[in-house]
Amino acid sequence: MTSTVRTRIAPSPTGMFHVGGARTALFSWLYARQHGGTFVLRVEDTDASRNRPEWTEGILSAMAWLGIGPDEYEGPYHQSDNAAAHAEAAARLRESGLAYYCDCAREDVLTRTGDPHRGYDGFCRDRGLAPAPGRALRFRTPDTGVTVVRDLVRGAPEFDNRTLEDFVVVRGDGSVLFLLANVVDDATQRITHVIRAEEHLPNTPKQQLLWEALDHTPPVWAHVPIIVNEKRQKLSKRRDKVALESYRDEGYLAEAMRNYLMLLGWSPSDDREIVPWSVIEKEFRLEEVNPSPAFFDEKKLRSFNGEYIRALPVQQFVAACEPWLVTPPAPWPADRFDPAIFAALAPLAQTRLGVLSEITALVDFAFLDSPVDDDASWAKAMTAQAPELLRAVRAAYAEVPWEAGALKATLEELGAERELKLGRAQAPVRVAVTGRTVGLPLFESMAVLGRDRTLARLDAALARLTTGQPTG
Ligand code: GLU
Repeated sequence: MTSTVRTRIAPSPTGMFHVGGARTALFSWLYARQHGGTFVLRVEDTDASRNRPEWTEGILSAMAWLGIGPDEYEGPYHQSDNAAAHAEAAARLRESGLAYYCDCAREDVLTRTGDPHRGYDGFCRDRGLAPAPGRALRFRTPDTGVTVVRDLVRGAPEFDNRTLEDFVVVRGDGSVLFLLANVVDDATQRITHVIRAEEHLPNTPKQQLLWEALDHTPPVWAHVPIIVNEKRQKLSKRRDKVALESYRDEGYLAEAMRNYLMLLGWSPSDDREIVPWSVIEKEFRLEEVNPSPAFFDEKKLRSFNGEYIRALPVQQFVAACEPWLVTPPAPWPADRFDPAIFAALAPLAQTRLGVLSEITALVDFAFLDSPVDDDASWAKAMTAQAPELLRAVRAAYAEVPWEAGALKATLEELGAERELKLGRAQAPVRVAVTGRTVGLPLFESMAVLGRDRTLARLDAALARLTTGQPTG
C-alpha cells in the first residue's frame, strides 16, 4: 500500500467561490505539495436545484487566478458522475445490516419523542422494512462507545456514539445524501487527508463511521477554523463581501490575496505577515493552524494589497492595470488612451493605490476631454479667492518652463503673495485641471498633461466661475 498524500477541495457549485473555500483550497493544495502528494478538485454537484454550470466555471477560474490548479487535470471530477458507486455503497450498507429502511415522517418522530432537538428515535431499526418508494435508508449508529477522529488541527475530538442519531443516507426518493456521497467519493478518489471547514466537524463522526462500515481506512481530518467579520459573526454571503471573484475584479493581486488567506488561521514565524510565497511554502504547517475563529479583516487585506502593488516593478504594475484601462470599464473614449502618458503617470499612481480599480479615477484627467465634473470638489475648492488666483496662475503658466519644479515654484509664489499656503493655493488648480480635490501629485500631473491642455482647463474653469455654468 502506498501512503501518498492525496488531498482535495470539494466545492458545491451553488454560488461564487467563497474566500473561506479559497483558504481551505490553499491549505489543501499546499499540504499536498509539501508532502509530494496530489491535490484533487471534485465538484459536488448533486444538488441539482441549486447548481449552475457557470458557478463551476467561476470556481475554476478563481482557483486558477490564485494559482492553485488541481494536479489531476482531465477537468474536475463531478460528484454526479459517481452515482453508481453511491448506490452500490448504500446497497452494501443495507446488505450488511448497517442500514435499514424507515418510513417515519418527521411529525411521527416528534410525536413520539416530544423534543424537536432529539433527532431520530430508532423506531424502524428492527422492523425489517423492505425497500419501497418513500422509504429512506438510515445508517445504524453504534449504541455505545465513542468515535474518535484524528484531526490535524484539533487533536483527537471524541464523539459519544449515543449522541449520534441513526441518520439518513438515501432519501425516500432514492437520492443519496451528502454524508454518504462525500465519503464514497473521497474513498473512490483515495483521499488520505480531508481538509475542510470547521462547519463540517459535526458530520465527521458520522462520516468516519461510514468509512469504517464500507471497509475503508478513514482519512486524517483537518477542520480549519471558521472565518468571522469584525463583529465576530461568521462570514456570510448575504452580509459580507465573501466572493473571491469580487476581490479579483476590484483589483486585488493574486499574490496579496494568497498571502492574506494563508494567515486566516496560520502565521509565519517572527510575527511577520507579508512574506514571499517561497517562505510560506516552506514554513506552513497544517498542524500549527489555530482552531479558533479567524478574523477576515478587509482593511488589512487592502493594506497588504497596497504593499504588494508598490513592490511590483513598474512595468508589471502597468501590465496589472491593463484590465481597468480598456474602455469599458475605463470612462474615457478608447481612442483617447495614450500608453506613453499612462507610463509617465504610472510611477506616481503606484504608491497611491489600495486596489487596482482605483487607477481610473487617478488618471482619468489625462484621457478625458475635460476633467470629471465633481460638484463637491468644485464647491470645496472654488472659494471667493479662486477666480483671481486662477487668472494669475493662468497668466504665469503661459510663460513658465513646463516642468514640475517650475510649476510648483510659480504657484508657491502666487499663493504667498495672497497669503495662501501651497495646499490652499493648489486646491482650485487641482480641481480645474483634474476635477477632484485629491489625486496624483499635481505638478507632475500637469507636467505630463502638457501646457496646452492645462491652460485650456484653467480657461474652462474661469469661464465656469464667471458664468456659474459647467463648461462641459
Ligand atoms: N461540498 C461540501 C462543501 O462545499 C464539501 C465538504 C467537504 O469538504 O467534505 O462544503
